[in-house]
Order: sequence, then C-alpha cells, then structure tokens
Amino acid sequence: MAEATIIGGTAMAAALRAEIGRRTAALASSHGIVPGLATVVVGDDPASRVYVRNKVRQADEAGLRGATHALGDTTTEAELVTLVRELNDDPDTHGILVQLPLPNHIDTGAVIAAIDPHKDVDGFHAVNAGRLMIGRPGFVPCTPMGCMRLIGSVLDDLTGLDAVVVGRSNIVGKPLAQLLLARHCTVTMAHSRTRDLAGLCRRADILVAAVGRPGMIEGGWIKPGAVVIDVGINRVPAAEEGKTRLVGDVDFEAARHLAGAITPVPGGVGPMTIACLLRNTLTAACRLNGVAVPDDPSAA
Ligand code: NDP
Repeated sequence: MAEATIIGGTAMAAALRAEIGRRTAALASSHGIVPGLATVVVGDDPASRVYVRNKVRQADEAGLRGATHALGDTTTEAELVTLVRELNDDPDTHGILVQLPLPNHIDTGAVIAAIDPHKDVDGFHAVNAGRLMIGRPGFVPCTPMGCMRLIGSVLDDLTGLDAVVVGRSNIVGKPLAQLLLARHCTVTMAHSRTRDLAGLCRRADILVAAVGRPGMIEGGWIKPGAVVIDVGINRVPAAEEGKTRLVGDVDFEAARHLAGAITPVPGGVGPMTIACLLRNTLTAACRLNGVAVPDDPSAA
C-alpha cells in the first residue's frame, strides 16, 4: 500500500489565521470592532504560561486584541471568579479563556460556569456543551473543531463512515464524537475500560486518538486506508541524551504505511487548536455586536 497522505496542520492553521486576519481587518474597518481575547492563567506552570503566550501572540498577529491576566498560585477561587465576572462585563472583551489545569484548590467547574456563555470561546461551558449536543449554534471546543477541519481536508462526505474516538474527555473526545455524529458518522467512543480496543480500531474509517499515552495505537490496529487523527501530545526522551521530543498517541512510523491519511505530531492537531480559538473569538465579537458572522466556506 502507498504511504499515507500527511495532513499538515501547520500550513492549514497558517491559512486559517491569515483568513481570520482578513476578516478581522474588515470588521474593524466596517464596524470599528476589534475582537478582544482575554486569557487568564493561574500559577507558574511553565507549559501553561507558554500556551497562553502563544495564544496571545497569535491573536495579536491576526489583528485581534490579546490580553493576559497572570495570577499567582495563591489566587483564591473567589478572586478568579471575580476577575471572570469583570471580563464578562467588559465590552472590549469578546472571548475569555481560562487556561487549564487550574491549581487543585480551585474548582474548575465553578470557574467555567462563571464565564458568560457568549464569551466562552473554549466552548467548555455547560450551555455550549448542551448546544453542541442538540445541534444548536454555540461555541465548539477548539481542538475538536481543528480535528474536523483536518478530516475535512481529506474527506468530503463522512456519511455512514465508522468513526472511533479513543478518549472521552469533555474537552476533546466527547465534543469530537458529537461533531462526527452531526456529520452522519457511526461513532464509537473508546476509553480505558473498553474491551478489545485493537479490534475496535481496526474497524474505523476515521480513527481519533486523544488519550495521552505515547504510541499506544499500534500500526496493526489501523484499517488500511483509514484517516487517522492523532491528538495526543506526549513528551518522551529523545535519542540524544538529556533531550526530549514530542510524540503522539499513534505509532506514526508504523501507522503511515497503512493509513490513507494521518496527522503528524508535532505539526498536526496542535497548530489548528489556536487558529480555531481565534476563529471563535472573531465569531464572538460579531455575535455580541449583532454583526453577521462572515461566511467561512471551510468551516467544520
Ligand atoms: P484526559 O486525560 O482528560 O482523557 C484521556 C482519555 O483517554 C480518557 O477518556 C481515558 O479513559 C482514556 N484512556 C486512558 N488510557 C487509556 C487506554 N489505555 N485505553 C483507552 N483509553 C484510555 O486527556 P485529554 O482529552 O485532555 O487529552 C488527551 C491527549 O490530547 C493528551 O495527550 C493531551 O496532551 C492532548 N491534547 C492535545 C491538544 C492539542 O491541541 N493538540 C489539546 C488537548 C489535549 P477514561 O475516561 O476511562 O479514564
């Protein structure tokens, strides 16, 4: 069998950011509105700080207004909720993102519940999760939205395809399963208690791995010709001593000989996540101001 098509998320994300930049400029010149994205990070977890910095930088580069609220790790839940409410009331803030994970003394659910659903650009609020479930417009979580765009780049019609999503988190697995269902796939969700995961994966026309275990999806689990989306981001020791490298949940080198198309790690799902966050923020700015959301022919 021929080598799989590599689905390049880096180039696709750059194209999407450029498109968002053009739309943002048009919104600013026609209505004087600059979409504002407020990111909130609590504590000094280095990975969280890097993620937030990247989000704000990419927002600024696309012409949005990115702002960071960096709080110390002794911040209380009440203080964080107060900040979220201030951002809810700020007319220049259209999107609010609270970087997860939060320190253990803060109830993540309570903080997410405090975000105005109209500004919930991560799509984690129960109102938006519910809207996705019943097929109503809301905000779709960014990583699943990015996955759908990646799938859409190699498959036009998903009707009737067997999709297996490994991982059932609220931020990736469950919303992605809803999106695939909405596109008429027959969806199976797998998790740590699933029996015969290998057999299940072998039946998948679309296989998504969102687990967080390096290389756990083996090459022999891939149905020949399947579209494989690897959401996992795992840091493992590199060949060079003392160095590390990123790998996904799929054994990429083995899987690429069987899959029809596959996303690499890094350079697959990761870059699409931030691009979709910017898209949600632009959408929020339009909706909050009663402006029609510009057409997006490539929307998932
Ligand atoms: P969670 O830890 O919240 O969920 C992991 C899921 O994997 C759970 O549903 C768990 O099952 C399941 N699981 C664990 N072990 C197994 C196993 N042996 N077999 C089958 N299923 C298993 O992770 P997230 O959804 O937040 O993230 C998943 C991965 O995606 C991580 O590597 C994360 O870094 C990455 N990620 C990447 C993003 C990107 O932008 N590219 C964005 C978000 C996440 P159970 O529910 O039974 O415990």
